[in-house]
Amino acid sequence: MKVLVVNAGSSSIKYQVFDMTDESVLAKGLVDRVGIPGTSLKHEPTGKDEVIIKKDLPDHTEGMKLVFEVLVNPEYGCIKSMDEIGAVGHRVVHGGEEFASSVVIDDHVKKVIKDCFDIAPLHNPPNLMGIEACQSLMPNVPHVVVFDTAFHQTMEAANYMYALPYDVYEKFRVRRYGFHGTSHFYVSHRAAEMLGKPYEDCKIITLHLGNGASMAAIKGGKVVDTSMGFTPLEGLVMGTRSGDIDPAIVFYLMDKLEMNSSEANSYFNKKSGMLGLSGVSNDLRDILAAAKTGNTRAQIALAVYYNKVKGYIGNYIAKLNGCDCLVFTAGVGENAADIRESVCSDLDYLGIKIDAEKNNVRGKEVDVAAADSKVRIFVIPTNEELVIARDTFQLATK
Ligand code: ADP
Repeated sequence: MKVLVVNAGSSSIKYQVFDMTDESVLAKGLVDRVGIPGTSLKHEPTGKDEVIIKKDLPDHTEGMKLVFEVLVNPEYGCIKSMDEIGAVGHRVVHGGEEFASSVVIDDHVKKVIKDCFDIAPLHNPPNLMGIEACQSLMPNVPHVVVFDTAFHQTMEAANYMYALPYDVYEKFRVRRYGFHGTSHFYVSHRAAEMLGKPYEDCKIITLHLGNGASMAAIKGGKVVDTSMGFTPLEGLVMGTRSGDIDPAIVFYLMDKLEMNSSEANSYFNKKSGMLGLSGVSNDLRDILAAAKTGNTRAQIALAVYYNKVKGYIGNYIAKLNGCDCLVFTAGVGENAADIRESVCSDLDYLGIKIDAEKNNVRGKEVDVAAADSKVRIFVIPTNEELVIARDTFQLATK
């Protein structure tokens, strides 16, 4: 069976086609600026040259129509007809407390996705638009949803409750959910294979360090804790998100900078983090380069970043009562050897020692720990699309 994986954002659609007989990727691509003048589609068929198509598209349905045209194109397509696609897997950010695993989409599932609009206003509405666009064009195949929050639903109240009046949890669902679940799931399973131990016997700390960043502590096959919370704003310092701060700063700055709640939301999500602190960029490559040339703010930003990650490593080792491995993944975790080295420096008390030479790698599955490190340190490129394709295939063929 061939499976189409779709990740619809507010103005973008990412897609991949998998042949599930060997889990190979037949093609992948991205439609950018959907609904905004200047739409373009970048299509990368495996083994053929990439194709860029520029065509203004008013909405996600027209965007998906163009994707379908490209997929069956005799020259650069990867299938003869859309009938070859046996199921479609959709990434959806928020499944609330209702879903701890992937499900076939029906009216109830769509209602749950909609019910989460107010707690995931930037993500769930476009995710649902993508689902409805695909369902209208492919009504006769199963559509499956894979939630970013699902893997973290194994957290216990000790880690998902905030110390707020209990009724805000009951009335408004204010609790910690966690995100990037599909990535933490994938890399932690790969890590267990690299450790050569059953997954259920492992204590794993995963570090998904991209522009958005989160960590998870996993024990007995369950997420014990994760760093993102009610929204992706909590936790680590990210490209443009502040991560953990004293909540009093929010209302103090709303007064001082005369911001309403939506302006404050954008301030802490889009103007803060490494961008706000360094004044250089949200991209760690630029900040590393600036720090090397003596830019003090870039140096401080990096020091704050490392400090925060180290703090979570210590926190999670305490919560897991030990740790078999750290796993670095996503744009920063997979590619930035100097950041991995700084994060792991001076942690030998916790049994963490990195080997600078082995660590000099990018985007490969490899153990970069020193021979005498008690904790293994893995670099594992994430593959959320493969998890979505596998879940979709499994549910569609059940
Ligand atoms: P997201 O999916 O959250 O948008 P990614 O996981 O794709 O992010 O990561 C993108 C980020 O990875 C970039 O913003 C950049 O900071 C970082 N990055 C990529 N390559 C490197 C590198 N060689 N060194 C440092 N940072 C890198």
